[in-house]
Amino acid sequence: ISNLIRKIRNFQENKWNNEIKKINSKNKEKVVILGSGWGGMHFLINIDFKKYDVTLISPRNYFTFTPLLPCLCSGTLSINVCTESVRNFLKKNGSVGNYLQLECTDIIYKDNYITCKDNDNNEMKINYDYLIIAVGAKTNSFNIKGVDKFAFYVKDIDDVLKIRRKFFENLEKSTLPNTTNEEKKNLLHIVIVGGGPTGVEVAGEFADFVNREVKQNYEDIFNFISISIIEGGKNLLPTFTQNISDFTKYNFRNLNINVLTNYYVTEVNENYFYIQSSIDKSDKKKFPYGVLIWASGLAQTTLVNNLLKKIPQQVNNKILNVDSQLKVIGVESNNVYAIGDCKKIFPLQLQKYTSELIDSLHCSKLTSDTLKSKSEELSEVFPQASKYKWDYDKNKKGEMNEQEFHEYLCKMDENYKSPAPTAQNAKQEAYYLSNVFNNFLTRDKKLTVPSFIEKWKGSLAYIGNHQVVAHLPFYEIKGGFLSFTFWKAVYIQLLMTWKSRATFFFDCIRTKLYGRPFIK
Ligand code: FAD
Ligand code: NAD
Repeated sequence: ISNLIRKIRNFQENKWNNEIKKINSKNKEKVVILGSGWGGMHFLINIDFKKYDVTLISPRNYFTFTPLLPCLCSGTLSINVCTESVRNFLKKNGSVGNYLQLECTDIIYKDNYITCKDNDNNEMKINYDYLIIAVGAKTNSFNIKGVDKFAFYVKDIDDVLKIRRKFFENLEKSTLPNTTNEEKKNLLHIVIVGGGPTGVEVAGEFADFVNREVKQNYEDIFNFISISIIEGGKNLLPTFTQNISDFTKYNFRNLNINVLTNYYVTEVNENYFYIQSSIDKSDKKKFPYGVLIWASGLAQTTLVNNLLKKIPQQVNNKILNVDSQLKVIGVESNNVYAIGDCKKIFPLQLQKYTSELIDSLHCSKLTSDTLKSKSEELSEVFPQASKYKWDYDKNKKGEMNEQEFHEYLCKMDENYKSPAPTAQNAKQEAYYLSNVFNNFLTRDKKLTVPSFIEKWKGSLAYIGNHQVVAHLPFYEIKGGFLSFTFWKAVYIQLLMTWKSRATFFFDCIRTKLYGRPFIK
């Protein structure tokens, strides 16, 4: 196996024909990071500025702690908890990194430069030795009519501030003497599209705000307020367990949130949204709304879509494919990497190496146990062979002939799932890659590193009324007295700085004592 792995690695190295630059302290190679989100910022934090000349480029001069954005919609927490200035992370151990407030408009990977524009649309060109693409993804409108124009996304600080502003405007409009009861009902209908974790958390936070502070301050119109969540599939939180989905539905009913599953939103106009049943296509309805929040999943950015068109191996892809070392596939100079939501890992396929594997296993019997015993070594190049990715016991197979062994490898390839687009994976990828950069200085050495394999640490979601659900590796939590405390403990330690932790702590006390604010 070791010989095979060495052979594959040599092949990869030979493909790269450029002269390898030897690094010396005076001539540091230039690493350009695109994006100040989960991937980009954690890469910046961990990369050694003494070894590389590092520049982070992003139109946003701050990092957003996205898991707490739903708490900003309701005002439970303030902006200072969820944001960190990039500039606070540019000095490390006597060395400095650079930040440029620019948006990357094009990647000319064949000539190792990018084009960018500033806030005044002035174009400029920036060279790099290594490029780390961490531009994330945008919310998917699926090109549904009216969504871009009338719905609000929940992607960044500006988005949630817009949601708050619209809701407060509608509250005030509803208190005007000439507003009819019918108009009040429509203005105060908050609709959330998408029952994934983003939609569910926003619905839970809104319900808390409405049932407490709005009820106290807008007594006359409280009864006109309604919250609905529309999900095209049959479950809320479909990536959690069935028990958790059912509990979330039950909790939402107690909070007076209307849950409409198996319905897709098909069109939106200024006052109405249209839905269609996913079971019976002829079942179509329309409802009025006051605030429409869109949380229906992810689509790629224009930058990534344009890059895909330029790389011959990727023209038909919908997302940037990277290999198991996070290098963009099809970039022969091996110096462009992608991490976070903008990429998908497509590892080397085991099935293409069937005969080489058989030769290198040197055993009389080809069984799943033989592969299992070599899984650690194999997963250095083929992450799909890792015990984290393939359940050898569930897929136990006795002696196989060559064809059966090939089919077994095909199944392992098919079973591989690229890391989900989550903050925890973007952060793990950033640490993996920055450690590779810190420990392997030359380009050829970087080609020899083991594959990235994520470790799933579980998922949490706040579902309102101090209830939290958690899908953890060996356990699940469905609300309960301590669940909210657990949630707070997890997030306070995940925050990046003591400033954010202190603000989180004081905001929780402020909300408990004085309620959520009504300022826009
Ligand atoms: P992002 O964090 O989105 O960062 C992208 C960065 O790239 C931004 O700084 C952006 O300004 C910049 N950028 C964009 N285009 C360009 C360009 N052309 N040039 C330069 N820079 C550019 N995940 C979890 O694991 N747990 C959670 O609890 C959780 N909660 C979430 C809650 C919400 C409301 C949302 C929206 C997401 C949540 N996620 C959660 C998912 C998580 O936020 C994403 O998976 C994560 O942000 C991906 O990190 P990223 O670095 O790829 O992209
Ligand atoms: P998602 O893709 O997880 O969920 C979107 C949901 O919207 C899907 O269930 C889909 O069926 C539904 N949908 C799509 N189009 C629709 C339509 N037209 N009408 C009705 N429903 C429609 O998206 P998300 O919730 O934004 O999450 C994005 C990523 O961020 C995921 O990887 C998620 O795990 C992660 N995230 C995690 C957390 C957490 O762990 N607490 C919180 C937020 C986001």
